[in-house]
Amino acid sequence: MGIEPVTKTARTRLCIESGERSWLKDARFTARDISNDTLRLKQDGYNKTEIQREVDREDFLRNNKCAVVAKALQAWNSYKELLNWWYDQDDTTVGKPSPPATDKKGAYPLVMAHTEGYRLTHNDEEGRIRFRVSPKPYKKVKGHLRGRPEDFNLIESALTEDEWSLGQAELLYRDGVYYLHVTVKTEVEVPEPEDADTLVGVDINERNIALTALNRETMDTLGTLVLDYGSVKAERQRYHTITKRCQEHGQHSIHNQLGDKEERYTEWVLHRMSRVVVEFAQQFPNPVMVFEDLSGIRDAIKYGTYMNRRLHKLPFHKFEQQVRYKATWNQIPCETVESPYNSKSCSCCGHRGYRQGRRFRCTNDSCAVHQDHADRNASVNVAWRVWAKHAGVDVESVNYRTRKTQPSVRKVSLSGSGRSVNRPSSSREIASRGVLTT
Ligand SMILES: [Zn+2]
Repeated sequence: MGIEPVTKTARTRLCIESGERSWLKDARFTARDISNDTLRLKQDGYNKTEIQREVDREDFLRNNKCAVVAKALQAWNSYKELLNWWYDQDDTTVGKPSPPATDKKGAYPLVMAHTEGYRLTHNDEEGRIRFRVSPKPYKKVKGHLRGRPEDFNLIESALTEDEWSLGQAELLYRDGVYYLHVTVKTEVEVPEPEDADTLVGVDINERNIALTALNRETMDTLGTLVLDYGSVKAERQRYHTITKRCQEHGQHSIHNQLGDKEERYTEWVLHRMSRVVVEFAQQFPNPVMVFEDLSGIRDAIKYGTYMNRRLHKLPFHKFEQQVRYKATWNQIPCETVESPYNSKSCSCCGHRGYRQGRRFRCTNDSCAVHQDHADRNASVNVAWRVWAKHAGVDVESVNYRTRKTQPSVRKVSLSGSGRSVNRPSSSREIASRGVLTT
């Protein structure tokens, strides 16, 4: 068992009962100024202590200021990381990352620490969660929170249970409504990957996410699911085309709005797909999620000729992070395996075959498999590799694999948008379609 710290964000709205909305507005604008100044000073080589001193504002809580500066520096650090990655990779079609904006466009939230800039309390009589926000020294805005039950449950746990606590909160504003996004912290126990009974191989590629669950003992396939996100690409393409047209006509404000929209859409897709993946794994006894080393995927994409990569590619790394994150919350361990020739090896006999479109073809005459769904085949290989890793078997020297032909693939398409009128099927329902019944 390993103990992992985890955080989750509870999204709520403010129902203001006392205090002035204008104080919140002033504080938001001050927070934005502080963020921008922080980024400018960082660019000029100032260190954190110097920045904290430079950006001091009257009429703004010192504690809030520290939190806002820390948040801006965090954004700067992720930019630097991305930049390093960019210098290190070979693909010439990936645009150079740009530094965080220091103008009025960013949605810089007011960041606050619990009990300092904000405080939440549970009112037992009303059954409500009350808030106090301090946008300025000696000025308090009070009221109660509104939101979905799952978000409230998180906050209540943080207020009542020892192992839970409240972290920072962010005050956001959109279309006349104030939102409070509250970070909730706890720790979860995650079993060791070696103790897992089910191996869930995850193959992430530019067409779909392929999943296969194997019983470690018998190597029988318990489930297999291919999540197609073709419609997602089309949707992103659509946003991109409009964005580009607006750019050509110099309509930058629309361009920004659409950029935001495309980003929110991608976020929604990532969130939804990662949920399906984790819920797929949850249906089997003691699962471990197995990812392949992502460096191989970049090569595969580089050689794809038909791809306009910036668009057609989902942020794989981010997707994997989200799946890992949700898995940890659900006490499912994760593991990574090296994966040379993963998509070119037969999951049945280990023979090096070849891909033909979406099919994998095995060239071993004595193998029961002649062809298989190429991405599913790869996901079986990923699961098999973790078995070999735990058993201490050298993958390259042994050709023994599952020795089993795989059941037919259940393929589901992820479609719809975040605001679709016809509600798309639930993640759990999609996930359960991949489970085989005997
Ligand atoms: Zn074979």
